[in-house]
Amino acid sequence: MADHALLFGQAPARFGDLPNDDASLFALARGREEGDHKLAPLAMTKWFNTNYHFLVPELDAGRPFCLDASRYLAEVQEALASEPRAKPVLIGPMTFLWLSRGAMAEERLSRAEELAAAYAALLAELARLGVAWVQIDEPILGLDLPDEWLAAFEPTYHRLKTPGIRLLLATYFGELNGQISLVTGLPVDGLHVDATGATDLLNVIDRLPAFKVLSVGMLDGRSIWRADLEAMLDVLEPIHARLGDRLWLAPSCSLLHLPLDACEERIHEEKRLPAALAENLSFARQKLDELALLAQGLAQGRAAIADEIQAARGARERLDALRGRRDPARREALRESLQSQPSRASAYPLRAERQRERLDLPLLPTTTIGSFPQTDNIRAARRAFKRGELGTEVYEQRMQGQIREVIRAQESLGIDLLVHGEAERNDMVEYFGEQLDGYGFTAQGWVQSYGSRCIKPPIIWGDVARPRPMTVRWSEYAQSLTVRPMKGMLTGPVTLLFWSFVRDDLSREQVAYQIAEALRDEVRDLAEAGIPAVQVDEPAFREGLPLRRRDWPSYLDWAVRAFRHATAVAPDHCQIHTHMCYSEFNDIIDSIAALDADVITIETTRSNMQLLDAFADFDYPNEIGPGVYDIHSPLVPSVEEIEARIRLALEKVPAERLWINPDCGLKTRGWPEVRAALEAMAEAARRQRAESRAQP
Ligand code: GLN
Ligand code: ZN
Repeated sequence: MADHALLFGQAPARFGDLPNDDASLFALARGREEGDHKLAPLAMTKWFNTNYHFLVPELDAGRPFCLDASRYLAEVQEALASEPRAKPVLIGPMTFLWLSRGAMAEERLSRAEELAAAYAALLAELARLGVAWVQIDEPILGLDLPDEWLAAFEPTYHRLKTPGIRLLLATYFGELNGQISLVTGLPVDGLHVDATGATDLLNVIDRLPAFKVLSVGMLDGRSIWRADLEAMLDVLEPIHARLGDRLWLAPSCSLLHLPLDACEERIHEEKRLPAALAENLSFARQKLDELALLAQGLAQGRAAIADEIQAARGARERLDALRGRRDPARREALRESLQSQPSRASAYPLRAERQRERLDLPLLPTTTIGSFPQTDNIRAARRAFKRGELGTEVYEQRMQGQIREVIRAQESLGIDLLVHGEAERNDMVEYFGEQLDGYGFTAQGWVQSYGSRCIKPPIIWGDVARPRPMTVRWSEYAQSLTVRPMKGMLTGPVTLLFWSFVRDDLSREQVAYQIAEALRDEVRDLAEAGIPAVQVDEPAFREGLPLRRRDWPSYLDWAVRAFRHATAVAPDHCQIHTHMCYSEFNDIIDSIAALDADVITIETTRSNMQLLDAFADFDYPNEIGPGVYDIHSPLVPSVEEIEARIRLALEKVPAERLWINPDCGLKTRGWPEVRAALEAMAEAARRQRAESRAQP
């Protein structure tokens, strides 16, 4: 998206005239220091329902679309030099506009034709280079689009017609049903559809004009699992019989969302992954091999790939036979216990009373979101421990030392509800996955998350279960050091699910329940160990939301149920917190309330506390801690700034139900700024307390 912003001359005006080059991309992504003020970078948000982030273009008033294509054309030429049939890919004009923000955002649809003219100029350049096919991605066709946006596709695509160029319109991440006649009728030469879900392929074929190509995305571009070639051929063979050469095969979407090569796992990591798991992985390179096999199976008949079909079937059978793959007795017990909505023993008002007695917190209590700075020391200790260079005892002593430091710091800062600091956690998902049954970890399964940052999502391949407590001893140790109350820290079922690669033989709903069951045991153990509060983080709660609104209720129902299953076990006097951040929450606020957490801490300063309106309008019934400073900025907030935010919050939330905390965890920050910022936060809370007491 940032590339396209530069391609069509849409860097925000504050950057002046940015040429289309690498330095400009960095400026858009990171912002730029200009004298003593900083030019803000483009906003970053998630690409549809993936965990990949993109930079959001800003459309300024009075900035025409003007093509600056030399960089793009050079890239295409490079590709053509090694493969003359290379197919350049562009994000479509409608998707580009839909995802853009800025001063002109309201009127952006009215600029579709102008933008299409710039695209047409680019296509003419590509024709001059000898390009035959260009793919144009319009993933917004998988969303619920307003009618006027749907209606604008046809005139916009008419403008893209370019002599010498054939266009393949690509949709992905969703089914096309409802939009089939619109999309098959657009003036393009071919259509790519995501065929991993419920798209009615026969209906598409019935409506497809006889001159158009159909590219079928049968292999799931976001699945790490080896394909069932036979089942795919069952679907593809009749389509091939009808379409012949007009049938193309492709992965459902870009391979950006997969790690590169599963072979590396097979060669290097037998120790970490069971062989029967490793042989069932299909990353980007393997997807291309599978694609070639499918093509061969269609062209020459199934017999031509009989060995590969047999091998895939055998591998899957070995995976299914793995110990830990499924536990029917536990599944049955879980089904029983989830038939009714899990609930705490008492309703919030009564719980709140019990918790007040036990926690003895002041008005406007202060807390943090969990992690404290992950210093080089901590990382080095963890690395040495993993490599076996540091014994368990020494490692645990180091982590305990870290916990002591974090407790002392919070006490001296005057924080009211303490945390242990999460020093022992490399990552909030991996840490739990490593201790749960049913999870596997790759050595090289990196996926780009944003910019230069990559993540290595764990793999859920078996039934999830918790063999032993995961966090209790750390929280217990921390609590033993202080008379102040301690908050245990867990990652929630929805987040543990969505930030992993998930098995394909069980619904996400059922996997979420299994994770919830494991967390439930942990919550119970923490409560029994005397930990008076437990936070269950759900930063991915919104990310799991389906693209189509009609699918929201069923997702929200099971996501809420999973969270409640994990937390309902807490006795009334144990305070359940949850935490969410960096998403749009206004339209799912009733589901957030349905989680029935006693306290929700939520990132709000990025939106200048606007999120609070949603909580106020909805009349959110429990306690809220809207973040009072942005932890992504190294700038230390002043006491007055924080006080101003608390005052804003007090307009919407009664003081008795308001908490004071940062936006998110502090692991990416350094100690000096954390100390200074929390000091300001605690001081702001003290002053506001005094003010609140002064007013009756
Ligand atoms: N408890 C986690 C932390 O503080 C929460 C992180 C998150 O919201 N992503 O690091
Ligand atoms: Zn957060």
